[in-house]
Amino acid sequence: MSVPSWQQRPEDFANRITQSLKWIVQHMQQSGERSPWSALTPGELASRIPLTAPTTPEPLEDVLADLRDVIAPGLVRWDAPGWFAWFPSNSHPDAILGDLLASVMAQQGMLWTSSPACTELESRMLEWLRRSLGLCDRFAEGGAGGGVIQDTASSGVLACLVAARDRTTSGLASTRGGDACSGLVAYTSEQAHSSVLKAAGICGIGRDNLRLVPTDDQFRMDVRSLSRMMQDDVAAGLRPCFCCATVGTTGCGAIDPVSQIGQVCQKHDVWLHVDAAWAGTAAIASECREPITSGCELADSWSFNPHKWMGASFDCCCLWVADQRPLIDAMSIDPEYLRNSATGTGEVIDYRDWHVQLGRRFRAIKLWLLLRCTGAAAIAEMVEFHVELARSVEAAVNAHDCLVLAAPRSLSLLCIQHIDGDLATQSLLDTVNADGRFAVTHCKLDGLLVMRIAIGALNTDQATVDALIQVMTEASQ
Ligand code: PLP
Repeated sequence: MSVPSWQQRPEDFANRITQSLKWIVQHMQQSGERSPWSALTPGELASRIPLTAPTTPEPLEDVLADLRDVIAPGLVRWDAPGWFAWFPSNSHPDAILGDLLASVMAQQGMLWTSSPACTELESRMLEWLRRSLGLCDRFAEGGAGGGVIQDTASSGVLACLVAARDRTTSGLASTRGGDACSGLVAYTSEQAHSSVLKAAGICGIGRDNLRLVPTDDQFRMDVRSLSRMMQDDVAAGLRPCFCCATVGTTGCGAIDPVSQIGQVCQKHDVWLHVDAAWAGTAAIASECREPITSGCELADSWSFNPHKWMGASFDCCCLWVADQRPLIDAMSIDPEYLRNSATGTGEVIDYRDWHVQLGRRFRAIKLWLLLRCTGAAAIAEMVEFHVELARSVEAAVNAHDCLVLAAPRSLSLLCIQHIDGDLATQSLLDTVNADGRFAVTHCKLDGLLVMRIAIGALNTDQATVDALIQVMTEASQ
């Protein structure tokens, strides 16, 4: 029986999946076969795609052939064994399966009523992860706080900043806008991620009113400076409302002293958010946990990205709040067309009230697959393995006459410099990237160029790290 042109029979879909599977397996098998970077020049890929979409269906074989010949050369292989750039962005096969299942189920999780499964599985996955990471009880499911999946850490910090802003202004910033934000100030360290600055601009506090607190000799927020800055601001009649501490800074993985920062924030009734976007995953390994979760009991919110190191496939940011009320007060909307009896009881979670957007994907399913089919113990083992690999790079750097660590190794992240300065470090970076097996990126610390080695791709192994050490050490004579 024929179906309308816009529909597809499930059995036809199954055939198409089988056809695509060959491509998928080949793609996965080839993760280390070429440079992780794409060799394309700007515009090259676009020039091979027509400006106008086809009006009649094309055979899937043709599309898959173009995927291989036109699209794949423009892919950057974040899954390569030699991927050491930025931070890892892992897609574990179980999470990929979860994403596929989520698309098949096509849920809209904005309200409990629009998908009880999406809502309740999400709350439970956040509780699984809270317990696996050893985060404090005030974030627990069923209490005053709780957890939610945001798309990214940037959205998470924005949501918390808006909640903090409204908490300090008793909601006037949301209702009146404009002057209601006047005098509000927020704090983060000089090493914090740029998303905090972006959020300050978006939420009306203003980028100029985000204080960048100096860091100590290990690039951690200097608590005395924070305390002094807050006192000075209060004395000047300003209103401190938000502070973002980072556990694992983007540059060198520095871990801010969250407990001490929390005490300063409590004194001034300032919302403390902890951004553990990358390093948060490491708390799943008991040997790495302590510095990561330390002080979380003083935080109003805490977030990490399972889509980075943990393997949960982009996008997936887990955010916990100690008190859901300020977030819901700031984000809640109640148009007539969304009213329903479950919401009316006040007994269900409507996740539309926990972030900026209304509609939401069924992201919890990939965490469910990952945690059930791969398991927390395997993820912990992976973290420990990557940290061990990083220790071997650290030992090679320490044994080398011309290489130094610009900051202490943080978990599996290393910041390396050539002792002859920026030009020599740049040359080292270029040599490593030109080798064809590795991808590395840079940052600046104390104004000096640094080559970052962020170990954490699922496929990274000892042999690849040994090869990196060899290239690095030989290029730095
Ligand atoms: N926070 C930290 C510490 C990061 O390292 C990053 C990105 O690497 C982010 C936030 C932003 O993450 P996202 O892309 O999820 O917004």
